Amino acid sequence: MDKLVYGFQEGRKEQKALLGGKGANLAEMTSLGLPVPQGFTITTQACLEYYKKGEKLWDELVSQIKDGVAVIEKQRGKKFGDVNDPLLVSVRSGAVVSMPGMMDTILNLGLNDEAVEGLARVTNNGRFAYDSYRRFIQMFSDVAIGIPKSLFESKLEHMKEKSGVVLDKDLSEEQLRELVKEYKVIYKEQKGEDFPMEPMTQLNLAVEAVFKSWNNERAKLYRTLNGISHDLGTAVNVQSMVFGNKGDESGTGVAFSRNPATGENKVFGEFLMNAQGEDVVAGIRTPNPIETLKDISESCYNEFMETAKKLEKHYRDMQDIEFTIEDNKLYILQTRNGKRTALSAVVIATELYEEGMITKEEAILRVDPKQLDQLLHPVFDSKALKNAAPIGRGLPASPGAGMGQIYFTADDAYNANAAGQQVILVRQETSPEDLKGMNCADGILTSSGGMTSHAAVVARGMGKCCVAGCSDVRIDEESKTMTAAGKVYREGDFISLDGSTGLVYGEKIEKNEPQLSGKFKEFMDWADEIRTLEVFANADTPHDARVAIGFNAQGIGLCRTEHMFFELDRIQAVREMILSNTLEEREKALAKLLPMQRGDFVGIFDAMEDRPVTIRLLDPPLHEFLPREESDIRVLANEMKIPFEEVKARIVSLEEFNPMLGHRGCRLAITYPEIAKMQARAIIEAAIESKKNGNTGVYPEIMIPLVGHINELSYIKKHISEEIEKVFAEKGERVQFLIGTMIEVPRAALTAGEIAKEAEFFSFGTNDLTQMTFGFSRDDSGKFLADYSDKSIFDSDPFQSVDQTGVGRLMELAVKEGRAVRSNLILGICGEHGGDPASVEFCHKLGLNYVSCSPYRVPIARLAAAQAVIKQK
Ligand code: PEP
Ligand code: MG
Repeated sequence: MDKLVYGFQEGRKEQKALLGGKGANLAEMTSLGLPVPQGFTITTQACLEYYKKGEKLWDELVSQIKDGVAVIEKQRGKKFGDVNDPLLVSVRSGAVVSMPGMMDTILNLGLNDEAVEGLARVTNNGRFAYDSYRRFIQMFSDVAIGIPKSLFESKLEHMKEKSGVVLDKDLSEEQLRELVKEYKVIYKEQKGEDFPMEPMTQLNLAVEAVFKSWNNERAKLYRTLNGISHDLGTAVNVQSMVFGNKGDESGTGVAFSRNPATGENKVFGEFLMNAQGEDVVAGIRTPNPIETLKDISESCYNEFMETAKKLEKHYRDMQDIEFTIEDNKLYILQTRNGKRTALSAVVIATELYEEGMITKEEAILRVDPKQLDQLLHPVFDSKALKNAAPIGRGLPASPGAGMGQIYFTADDAYNANAAGQQVILVRQETSPEDLKGMNCADGILTSSGGMTSHAAVVARGMGKCCVAGCSDVRIDEESKTMTAAGKVYREGDFISLDGSTGLVYGEKIEKNEPQLSGKFKEFMDWADEIRTLEVFANADTPHDARVAIGFNAQGIGLCRTEHMFFELDRIQAVREMILSNTLEEREKALAKLLPMQRGDFVGIFDAMEDRPVTIRLLDPPLHEFLPREESDIRVLANEMKIPFEEVKARIVSLEEFNPMLGHRGCRLAITYPEIAKMQARAIIEAAIESKKNGNTGVYPEIMIPLVGHINELSYIKKHISEEIEKVFAEKGERVQFLIGTMIEVPRAALTAGEIAKEAEFFSFGTNDLTQMTFGFSRDDSGKFLADYSDKSIFDSDPFQSVDQTGVGRLMELAVKEGRAVRSNLILGICGEHGGDPASVEFCHKLGLNYVSCSPYRVPIARLAAAQAVIKQK
């Protein structure tokens, strides 16, 4: 005869497959000698057998359940249904992994018309006893029998209305007795029989309900989507109830073995005497700090403190522990690894290592890299956030919290900020002309554009909060209003943005500044010791370069030169260059740009010293640099001394139907090699100057974007190499440098073997590679990818985390074929994915040399790279 029921004292934690996660944990705590309320687990095997037997409980199981109850009765000295002090139990599902759709908990099972009187007597609280009874009937009917909850709730509402009270807790014992009667009538009407008074019948029905919930539609769908076998079955946990509200010698609380906010190694928690679990969280009574339990019951306090340390040592991590005291006796109801802030996670991981409880590698794995954002950016005050309701959700484009008054143009934002206001820049989408407004804003909100839109990329570089592509808000730049959740927001109104979740709030929410503890450095140093992948930053200016070094970036993986073109004093020369009709005119305009670019590069090289600096030649379509407003076009025409109509016509001729697939990247340099030549000259002249400044290790890498065919690369490489040799000859000085390319067009990945003959390095531009592999526009996909996630078509946004199956396959091919041709080919990634932990792990597995991401994500990538090494072992 199979053993189908295990007392908590009989199980072991290794029996998770048989006892489920919860059951194995309860058994584990019991065998540690902890005061866990007694109970038993019905095995997953019993659940599978139940299905084999045509969904019926069978005699053997019923008899083993009965024996299980008898054991608890004996242990607790209480009897099921007893009119004096009844044994009550909770019933919970407990699969190997927890999943949605499984049966909710039923509490207080065992109550009936007689036992309720016994409960009233022992708790000396008739109101409580009847409240527990009416809750039990409702829970049991809904959860185990499937009678709609709403039927009970409308009776409850009606009773409150009739009695003139607002809250459930204000109903009297009499009123609750009345409600119990009404509930039983509902049960009879719906089920066609009386509410079961016999506790064993109640229990068997509840057990069956748990078994049935294994195969409900939600649970089945969840398993299918997550690749969990349908043949595991669920266990059922039956545990005796303990009451913290039996009187002044009873109580309940929750405590963490260390401080979950700061990581301090001191038990942190609170409790309430004569109360039930929900009273602690409901906030009606103010709970007391755990230290004061010492004054009420020294024995319980000491036992709890010892237990907390014991559990922490056993599970080798900070524990979140629920406890109840019944008649001055401590019970541990639950323990699990506690949730914690990033600060606390770092402090606890380092200290557990120092205390010898875990290894350095384990410490590194204990902190979620994504959580580090909390340490690097301001976050909303958690209490303030609880009371705030979002008015929309966009893409979490750049993490951190932003709060301020809204402005709809860069100029307005700039002026308001200059006048002392904290501002949020609100735009349909941003363009490089908005930089000045973005720079002074506390946060940026756009209604269109994706994770790699201008707003998102620039905000990440600036370390500024940004919610992009939020189609829930309608922005009218003309009337300077924004409409969301049925309300109109005007210039000067306050909003708050959470760049880590993408949520937008129509109000002011207080923020907390990030806190970096000494432990952070220690912890990150360990990560650096372990990782093999180098971590670079995407940085466009000397300032960004310095920020990147502050975060220990080992180089610059992408300097987008065009970002330098938008400074007010430069855009004019850029526009002249674009609108030139002849090569001569263009070279004249380029000559004005040369010293400006050179100056920027010197600043970056000086800041980066001997670290590699990868500078990309001009990438975006030219029309992006031209004015859009008629008044601006007139100013330009005046300055260039060209008729307005002609300028306008030239601008129109540059417009493209699909600029992302248009005249951009290396295609520009094919048409106008003089642009690439000017940039190469600026880079090399700057390197020579930096070398003269004492930076002898200066190391420029010139990167050609959007190559899809080897001949594109050869053509441009030939032109810039000639120009570079000219510079060396003119200056009588040489510097080391590399010429390489981005792999961001699928054809480049497919022909990587050919391309590696010319390229000394590859940098995966996974923003474009994702766009072109899926055929999803980077700038429009924000509008529909949310549906993909809601409908579980994708589990992550491929613009945030590399699509390893598709895009990743192209990368793998390029790595293999590129290295086969050139064994010392340097490989990196500079798309936004370079700061995404899962993508970093993937890049490590592919054997890339480095990942490059925005400066503020460098610590995240450093940690993820270390974790990748440990996980691979
Ligand atoms: C890319 O395409 O991944 C990339 C880094 O370049 P950009 O985002 O500037 O197109
Ligand atoms: Mg690109």
